[in-house]
Amino acid sequence: MKIPFNKPFLTGNETKYIEDAVKSMKISGDGVYTKKCHDFFEQKYNFKKCLLTTSCTDALEMAAILIDTKEGDEIIMPSYTFVSTSNAFVLRGAKIVFADSKPNHPNIDVSKIEALITPKTKAIVPVHYGGVACDMDEIMALAKKYNLYVIEDAAQAIDSYYKGKPLGSFGHLAAFSFHETKNIISGEGGMLVINDDQFIDRAEIIREKGTNRSKFYRGEVDKYGWIDIGSSFLPSDIIAAFLFAQLENLDEIQKKRVGNWNLFHEKLIHLQENGCFQFLDLDENQTNNGHLFALIMNNLEERSALIDFMRKEEVMPVFHYLSLHKSPYYQDKHDGRELDNCDRFADTLLRLPFYHDLSKEDIEKITSLVIRFFDGK
Ligand SMILES: *Cc1c(COP(=O)(O)O)cnc(C)c1O
Repeated sequence: MKIPFNKPFLTGNETKYIEDAVKSMKISGDGVYTKKCHDFFEQKYNFKKCLLTTSCTDALEMAAILIDTKEGDEIIMPSYTFVSTSNAFVLRGAKIVFADSKPNHPNIDVSKIEALITPKTKAIVPVHYGGVACDMDEIMALAKKYNLYVIEDAAQAIDSYYKGKPLGSFGHLAAFSFHETKNIISGEGGMLVINDDQFIDRAEIIREKGTNRSKFYRGEVDKYGWIDIGSSFLPSDIIAAFLFAQLENLDEIQKKRVGNWNLFHEKLIHLQENGCFQFLDLDENQTNNGHLFALIMNNLEERSALIDFMRKEEVMPVFHYLSLHKSPYYQDKHDGRELDNCDRFADTLLRLPFYHDLSKEDIEKITSLVIRFFDGK
């Protein structure tokens, strides 16, 4: 039986809640289920204000608007990330200043950030790769020193912590994804978290096409109109109904995924000790939310060979990001600095199939293929 890279997990209540949302006849945005999701996140993680969006990409675009990103502003972020992290700011005319990754993890190397700050710098956008926390104390301290905004790209970071505090609660703003490939899903979907009060009112307006319709529905104003720029960033309540079925099972989902992760780790640790590859190790400040299981291979050739070897047995590992500073779209706009760690992860990082429903036998099959590959060398 083929083992795909990803398989979405359904809790069983998704269609029931969707039917319920449909029957309520209030199926546009900000209905009953959207409110339930907002309350869930605000209570569980103590986020100040949560707003569901149609994607994490949208949440990042809202963040770029909220901090008034303008032509010429500079935004510091890692190059080893998804295009949306950058695109959101490029759409508003910003210049992206890419920072290198840490030597042993794709997360942004904080020791490289300060030298990149100029009077034009407006924000730092840390990406918690694989749901593993960036060095948030250092990043927040730099932001304070230079009066910058911090926007966490927490797309992969649901239910993960830094020094005991949930990711998404550090930056002025944070963006989560509920795309089918993430831990908690709604097909497409996302959320903007607002931790800084000054952004709350305007975030509601931007999300509602630049109108104060949210205030109107709450009875806080007697008519609504066009008062700012904005777009349609809010999802239908049908999407929120799907998401809520997932949220009710969040602890169970996380427990299973982290259990799967530990099993992979246990079965492959001897190969890491033999230097066949490295894991993305955690320090005592970070937690593992079971988002992905990655191997850092020793070189590109070995990665390609392992992918081919496993695919022949119908097991589907994949690599991950390509360096954004070398992308066809951005290479001419990049300032030319070499980002060696980022390039190395682009060449050597491999993700094994990883999802909720992997059985012990599946994990045995996947890991024994990895072991066989190295035995045959
Ligand atoms: C998945 C992902 C996104 C985009 O999320 P969407 O919900 O698909 O828009 C952005 N950044 C990172 C780091 C991601 O992993």
